[in-house]
Formats: sequence, structure tokens, C-alpha cells
Amino acid sequence: MSDDIPFDKSFDLEPDRVRDIAPGVRVVVANNLGPFTFKGTMSYIIGRGKVAILDPGPDDDVHIAALLDAVRGETVTAIFVTHTHRDHSPAVPKVKAATGATVYAQGPHRLARPLFIGETRRLDASADTGFRPDTTLADSEVVRGDGWTLEAIATPGHTTNHMAFAFREADLVFAGDHVMGWSTTIVAPPDGAMSDYMASLHKLARRAEPLYLSGHGMPIRDAPRYVQSLIRHRQGREASILHRLGKGAADIPTLVKAIYIGLDPRLTGAAALSTLAHLEDLVARGVVATDGPPSIAGVYRLA
Ligand SMILES: [Zn+2]
Repeated sequence: MSDDIPFDKSFDLEPDRVRDIAPGVRVVVANNLGPFTFKGTMSYIIGRGKVAILDPGPDDDVHIAALLDAVRGETVTAIFVTHTHRDHSPAVPKVKAATGATVYAQGPHRLARPLFIGETRRLDASADTGFRPDTTLADSEVVRGDGWTLEAIATPGHTTNHMAFAFREADLVFAGDHVMGWSTTIVAPPDGAMSDYMASLHKLARRAEPLYLSGHGMPIRDAPRYVQSLIRHRQGREASILHRLGKGAADIPTLVKAIYIGLDPRLTGAAALSTLAHLEDLVARGVVATDGPPSIAGVYRLA
């Protein structure tokens, strides 16, 4: 559906087996494959001896045991969380209990905007609302360990509390779900926001790290160029929405049918929310109009 992005759908890692993935980085993939998680969540181990774990993953005892087994004989001093979706953070309490590590993240799960009257939270089941970090991180804050330095990069959009982390010694970025090689990112209101997501992409585009390690899928090489293709893709989607609205007012199902060709039927709901995310942004910019606040049931027209 997105031939403008050079996706990499390859994957040769076995679930719950530790493997070296980049200089100073090991990975253990959780066994939670699915339409939103690809082959599973990537839990990363940073450094040797005194290590950090990034995104411990889902609350899956087999995965947690595999992760702890991978660091046997080592000390886990820090746990980093990119964002609070159920495939990334629910393993934190058990990994923290087993290791005593300090948990670092931007903050608890929260919405990008208040709920409208009558609006339900469609993605509630996907959020780990109980998560609390030991230490909250602000944008550009740095955490130092034994042989590793991680710089927090606030990247709201997929979720409001999403953070990427630059691993300075290895000149790479842990991109979480903000940039993934196998797929575009779900940006779904009210948890996520398109204006934030685009600003975060532009922020990453100004960085030089050539290698990204994502929450799902294999490493992304030539990352700055890949980020540019994601920006162009969203600009293209926005142009498609405006093109369709140029022919007359439309609701979201009509827009989805017009702009997502060959969509996996399991992703129809996500595509509708992604379209709503674009429309929220377009309404905020005064390009598109609707009656009342932009909603999933609304009818949209050019302003
Ligand atoms: Zn996510």
C-alpha cells in the first residue's frame, strides 16, 4: 500500500533467543507476532557487564525469562521504555523486581488531547495505563551507564509519551515505534496526534545517526533517508485526502476507501484512525472544515 517507502519485511530472528544486532547491542524478540507487532517486540540489551534493557516487552513469562537469562551474570542498572503500549512496557515490573534496575521513560500513558463528549477510547486495550517510571526524562536528557550513554529524544505522535534514544557510543538511535522498517506507524487519536508525529519526524530528520533499531522489525540502515521517505509518504497521504475532498465532502470510510488501496482488512480500523489523525491536523491548520470537533463519524470538506 505504500510503494513510496523502501520497506524491509525480512526477519530472521527466532523468538526468545538472544542475538547480537549492532555494536554493543543484543536483542531478544518477544513471541507476540501480529498485524501491529510484525514478528514481535524487540527487547534490546545495551552494553556488557553493567547493562541497560530497552523495552522489556509484553507481560509474557517466557519472554521475561529469556530476557533475564540473556543477562545472567551481568547487572542490569537501567530499564528504558520508549512508550506505554502493551507490547513494550508491561514486562517492566517483573524485570525490575528481578534486577532492581531504575526505570526511565518520558512519563505515564496519557492522551494527546481531551476526549470529546461521547467519544470512546478505541485503543484503550493497547495502552499500559498502570506504567510509572522511577525517573522521568525530558527531551535531550542524558543517562550514562558503564560504556553506554543514552540521550532521550522526545518523539510524540504514535503516543504522547513516546521517546527515542540515541546510543552515542554506537552512533545509532533506538526509534521505538516512531520509525519502523517494516511498516508505517499507527498514529491514532486520541492517544496519538499527526501534528506531533510529523514534528517528531522532522526532528529526527535533522540528526545524523545512520542506524535505527526499532520496536519491531530489522535494523534500518541509511536511516536519515528512510525518515525522509516517511515524511514524503505522509505528505502524499495528506495530498490524497485533499484531492478526494476537492471532489466534495466525505466521511472517513469514504476517504479510507479512496486513499488506501489494497489495505489489509485487519487494518481498516487503524486506517480510519490514521485518516482522522490527518483530518485533525488539517482542521487545526484551517485547511479542512467539519461540524464540531473532528470525529471518527464526522463529514469533512475543504475549508
Ligand atoms: Zn506502540
